[in-house]
Amino acid sequence: MGLRTGDQYVDGLRNRKHVEIYVLGKQVDDVTTHPFLRPSVKAFKATFDAAFEEDTKELARAYSPFINEEVNRFVHIHRGPEDLVAKVKLLRRLSHKVGACFQRCVGWDALNTLFIITTRISEVEGRRTYLERFLNYLKYVQRNDLALAGAMTDVKGVRTLRPSEQPNPDSYVHVVEERSDGIIVRGAKANITGIAVVDEVIVMPTRAMTEKDADYAISFAIPLDSPGVKVVVGRQVNDARRLEDGEIDGLPYFFNHEGMLILEDVFVPWDRVFLYKDWTWAGQLVEVFSSFHRQGYAGCKAGLGDVVIGAAYNLAKQIGVADKAHVQDKLTEMVFLNETMYSAGLAASWEGRRVVSSGDGGWWVNPMYANVTKQLVTRFPYEIARLAHDIAGGIIGTAPSEADLRNPSLKGLLEKYLQGVQEYSAEERLRMLRLLENISLSVAYLIESVHGAGSPEAQRISMRRLYDLQIAEAISKRLAGLKVKIQWGKSIEPHRPSDIEK
Ligand code: SF4
Repeated sequence: MGLRTGDQYVDGLRNRKHVEIYVLGKQVDDVTTHPFLRPSVKAFKATFDAAFEEDTKELARAYSPFINEEVNRFVHIHRGPEDLVAKVKLLRRLSHKVGACFQRCVGWDALNTLFIITTRISEVEGRRTYLERFLNYLKYVQRNDLALAGAMTDVKGVRTLRPSEQPNPDSYVHVVEERSDGIIVRGAKANITGIAVVDEVIVMPTRAMTEKDADYAISFAIPLDSPGVKVVVGRQVNDARRLEDGEIDGLPYFFNHEGMLILEDVFVPWDRVFLYKDWTWAGQLVEVFSSFHRQGYAGCKAGLGDVVIGAAYNLAKQIGVADKAHVQDKLTEMVFLNETMYSAGLAASWEGRRVVSSGDGGWWVNPMYANVTKQLVTRFPYEIARLAHDIAGGIIGTAPSEADLRNPSLKGLLEKYLQGVQEYSAEERLRMLRLLENISLSVAYLIESVHGAGSPEAQRISMRRLYDLQIAEAISKRLAGLKVKIQWGKSIEPHRPSDIEK
């Protein structure tokens, strides 16, 4: 089949067998028409449309040596630093078009992670079964241009206890039965981006494991309509506006959702199992995946930052303050913060390297710069949003509703009192205020920025592991004339190799 159009993706969702999805306590029949989920479908659809639109199709397509065809980049295995850079650039552009998280990158990062891990297992231990299964799955995904979610974060129960020590043994997804034809799995994954609007989900372990946790060290892929799968879609700020009519307040934009994926004794055939009780590999899998996703944030969050900066600038123009020195200064600061996140992601991409020695692919980001990127992203969007709110004025939190503007007895008054500079109408101001409100206070721009791809402390732990303080100290001691034996390595940066690079 090859590349699918956005419409073909939407039709595919309609053709899924019965999937148990809940929104606000009620089961959803059709995600493509449900007012709460339709914006998510539109956002996901943009990743398919990108392969056909003039301004993005070069970025959004890539050649796959696995099926000898062009594929959508969202199912592509990175074959060099250029591919890693293209990812960040594509994500920035898609954010411009969508104004939300488009939800497809997690499954893409899961594909690249499993390519690396299954290849490494075959190279290091000579076990090729996982790699062969994964390559067959990859070809199936690429040929059918599937919409994938990636599910990593377990619900985790008591945070201080390991999976096997939990009072609730299902706090982490695990195998409960092994059969000749496959395995039965149980548990739940939390905060899963786009989970209700995908064809399939790739499940991965969420942390390093010990031998006692072997039942939890599993990775596999299943169609979302597998028996025993339930999805509970989470609430978001302003989400009830999706249920309103109208085209200003009622969130006519694209949007994203996150949900809980519950696996109640779900059968997984062996050919879909890519890691089974291999607890020694769980930590490396998490390391590879999280760095991939942390790098990606440079693109999507910088893209959303552009929307926020543009909205703030327009609102400043609407009230005649765009050329004031303090407003210019705030806009410059927003640009600086935004481009800093983006630059770090580009560095993580250009400094990427190949971490396998066989096969076609296996390029990974620079883990230090990927973690730095994500650490910046945990802070800078909040500051950019604060500056945008400062410029927009208090009305960002108090603007009248679209219904007020449409009410004949209020319309004239609101048009008179909401207008600033004459060339902009009251409706234009309200539209821009709502856009800024909805994006700058959204889960995609704020909460995801803190917790997506790992909470802030996770990056700090990684940075501490990767930075070699002893080397830095030796460099300083030498210059200070203190006794030190220093061996200059090839690497300029005082960085240690990550586990997968060793
Ligand atoms: Fe993609 Fe960004 Fe959404 Fe992650 S948060 S899925 S990188 S758009």
